[in-house]
Amino acid sequence: MTTAPRPAPVPTEATQAFWDATAQGVLLVQRCSACRRTQSIPRPFCRHCGAESPSWERSAGLGSIYTFTVNHRAANAHMADQLPYVVAVVQLDEGARLMANIVGTPPEAVRIGDRVRVRFLPLSETLSLPQFEPMGSP
Ligand SMILES: [Zn+2]
Repeated sequence: MTTAPRPAPVPTEATQAFWDATAQGVLLVQRCSACRRTQSIPRPFCRHCGAESPSWERSAGLGSIYTFTVNHRAANAHMADQLPYVVAVVQLDEGARLMANIVGTPPEAVRIGDRVRVRFLPLSETLSLPQFEPMGSP
């Protein structure tokens, strides 16, 4: 059985810095200079108050599972080899939330509120995908 390549995110002007950082094993969030709140899914404006040009800040990569689902049907040929897999919204300790896979644990063991830490799955030399694993993982 051949494994299809995993579809990779396509960086945009607003997300390029985020993806450049992932290739270095660094997770970035944006912090608004006006309301001081954070956001992930980078944008050229603050999703909370609309102020422009939020600044980049390094995340510690620690958070907890805000919500999740276990996929039993794959979104693409690559993920068909990964079934079942967990897609979660992770609440980072900095406040921002982002969607990512939970790996390194059986899907049935995942619970809302579980503490997780980021790890990076290299997709190319210029881009890695943030994923999260339970804090108790070796
Ligand atoms: Zn703001």
